[in-house]
Amino acid sequence: MADTKVYKNFINGEWVESKTGETFENRNPANIDELVGIFQKSSEDDVNDAVAAAKEAYKKWRLVPAPKRAELVMKFTDRLVKEKEEFSQQMTREMGKVIKETRGDVQEAIDMGYYMAGEGRRQFGFTTPSELPNKFMMSVRQPKGVCGMITPWNFPMAIPSWKMMPALLCGNTVVIKPATLTPLSVYNYIKIIEESGIPAGVVNMVTGSGGSVGQPLMTHKDVSVISFTGSTHVGRKVSQACATDFRGCHLEMGGKNCELVMNDADVDLAVEGAVWGAFGTTGQRCTATSRMIVHKDVIKEFTEKLVARAKALKIGNGLDESVDMGPAVNESQMNSVLKYMEIGKNEDKAKLLCGGGRLTGGDYDKGFYTEPTIFGDVTPEMRIFQEEIFGSVTSITECSSLEEGIEMANNTEYGLSASIYTQDINKGFKAMRDIYTGIFYINAPTIGAEVHLPFGGVKNTGNGHREAGVAGIEVFSEWKSVYIDYSGKIQKAQIDNN
Ligand code: NAD
Repeated sequence: MADTKVYKNFINGEWVESKTGETFENRNPANIDELVGIFQKSSEDDVNDAVAAAKEAYKKWRLVPAPKRAELVMKFTDRLVKEKEEFSQQMTREMGKVIKETRGDVQEAIDMGYYMAGEGRRQFGFTTPSELPNKFMMSVRQPKGVCGMITPWNFPMAIPSWKMMPALLCGNTVVIKPATLTPLSVYNYIKIIEESGIPAGVVNMVTGSGGSVGQPLMTHKDVSVISFTGSTHVGRKVSQACATDFRGCHLEMGGKNCELVMNDADVDLAVEGAVWGAFGTTGQRCTATSRMIVHKDVIKEFTEKLVARAKALKIGNGLDESVDMGPAVNESQMNSVLKYMEIGKNEDKAKLLCGGGRLTGGDYDKGFYTEPTIFGDVTPEMRIFQEEIFGSVTSITECSSLEEGIEMANNTEYGLSASIYTQDINKGFKAMRDIYTGIFYINAPTIGAEVHLPFGGVKNTGNGHREAGVAGIEVFSEWKSVYIDYSGKIQKAQIDNN
């Protein structure tokens, strides 16, 4: 504890302690004895300071030409490339996912940085002819102001980058509240942004709990927009808080994603996709494949092969390159997953095919390890089919046609990601058209989005916005329509145009 680094908030270009004088610990879920860092347990006062700094900095930052803002984005992204391995190792220590995946997380932030740096010279508006002579019309983008960002722990650097890069590029300033479980990765990200020369107040970070930091941030009158990624339960609170004073909010929330396997599928490929989709990031992905809907002609072969692959996965500390799956992110997440395993076991008709509990003994006792778990004979009314589990549990459900599979795929409150395995292009396109999700894959798992397409979902997964790709520019900028009349006389639209 004596040697453990104490990390501070970043407000107005300074690293400062919280006014509460309190801190909290960040521990390694693979080995709870390992203290990763000590962070500020902040409150509303710290949020107020951060928002005031962001509001002041906005006055100048919005006037910096976008290509110049982009040069800064490019500069700190170059720096991120150099720090990739170190930041990946630290991310595995703070949240447990395996090292090849944390490298992917940092890489996603790098990709987003370079993508957005390119957008600096592409802040396109449009012109269109006026209905009146000697009159010019155009639409231009403007920044929105102070953007509040509330992020989850499962992609601790990638998700902050989806939000911060387009927001900064568009001329906004930022106050970010990282997930309580993963402040170190956001600290690392902000630190290199600072060292790359961002003006004071343009980026601010306040660590602490949802109630003490997220709540005052999302209700602050000087915050123009809240960008939230997390559970549907908290997203609903964010939506309600923002609605009272018409504050913009983008919500990226939960998922219950399915892989549909048709009788003409390459079954081995579908199994590979299922293993990666269900157990990658220990199933703690919003896009995790938690439902396999499999045609009756291939369900036996698919099930046998998937169970064999799941049983062979190596579980352990994610810093070991040979490990396939790390621990749950903390004790309460592990307990929630164990609870769903019990719910599955208590279903009369569902059959536990492998796993079903906690891994114990040796090093496992120091961490929060759950077994890769598969339930068979699952039907759509079961809770394990309907509810987001966010852990190493997946289910297999039989269907007898494409149409029935699509109906089952849509039988959920969520609409984030889905996939189909088939060799028939007609089936692939029908499923793409008829399954209600924001993301869709053919012959690939439900996970694996790239930064330059919009990311997000429908139904209880989102509120109509998307982030990433050009959608990121859309949500962090405002259209302004401009009319210039050079006729030298009054011209009345709709009245003088006949
Ligand atoms: P969470 O909703 O518990 O927390 C998300 C963030 O909100 C955290 O920073 C948390 O501290 C904050 N928060 C909690 N209560 C709050 C409150 N009352 N007011 C303001 N802020 C509050 O989610 P989590 O456990 O961090 O992440 C897992 C969830 O995130 C899953 O449901 C997953 O599907 C979802 N997720 C969605 C996407 C997506 O893009 N759709 C991506 C990743 C994760």
